[in-house]
Amino acid sequence: MATEMKRIPCMAANWKMNKTSAEAADFVRQILPQLKELAGVERVICPPAAALPALSALLAGSGVGLGAQNMHWEAKGAFTGELSAAMVKEFCAYVIIGHSERRGLFGETDEMVAKKVKAALAAGLIPIVCVGETLSENEAGQTDAVVRRQMNAAFDGLTVEQAAKAIVAYEPVWAIGTGRAAHGPDANRVVAGSIRSVLAAKFNPGVSAAVRVLYGGSVTPENIAEFLSEPEIDGGLVGGASLKPDYVEIVRAALKRVH
Ligand code: PEP
Repeated sequence: MATEMKRIPCMAANWKMNKTSAEAADFVRQILPQLKELAGVERVICPPAAALPALSALLAGSGVGLGAQNMHWEAKGAFTGELSAAMVKEFCAYVIIGHSERRGLFGETDEMVAKKVKAALAAGLIPIVCVGETLSENEAGQTDAVVRRQMNAAFDGLTVEQAAKAIVAYEPVWAIGTGRAAHGPDANRVVAGSIRSVLAAKFNPGVSAAVRVLYGGSVTPENIAEFLSEPEIDGGLVGGASLKPDYVEIVRAALKRVH
């Protein structure tokens, strides 16, 4: 696996359905002075959609990126409750796609994820593409098959240039919000063996070496170093801990990553 290319570490915060716009703005005002100083790490905050306008104004010029948690693949039309890529792009540079909660609770299929990834890239957004196996899939020894299937679907039909811009988050579903994080070496094995190898086969080794792959699932300031020490993991997608000043400590830890 080609690892000689330097990948900028990235720490993305997924706030899920937490914080009103006012609460989001208060929290960002609190952590922004410290976050701004950690410029060696790509920092991305993904609040609920209702907070995007307020945070977009607060984060302008700060170096801290803003992301949506979801989008629709169609440009416009009768899709009540949805946001198009252009609507997201008004405020954001990033968008999370295919989070396991979208897949599991809202019926998102691999095909829908693929359409969203394509629409996001076409609009100039950076998709943070989530993949990962459920507990039962893990216990049945299907982790690699599931992650490879999700990767192959999500990256289908992209150009080499588009694929290289994407970020992937490996999030074992059993580790999300459970306090039971994966072990760093196990996550690294999946990233190398199923995520980067699909990218190498589908595109080329350069794409495989360029794409940032984040680990997600019960990341804390205490366990983040375990993931950052793994050669194929470039940062984290952080849920619960990103709602607190812990997020700053997790970002700070990524400054020490040397590969
Ligand atoms: C997530 O929402 O993507 C996530 C990883 O959540 P948590 O960090 O709370 O497990």
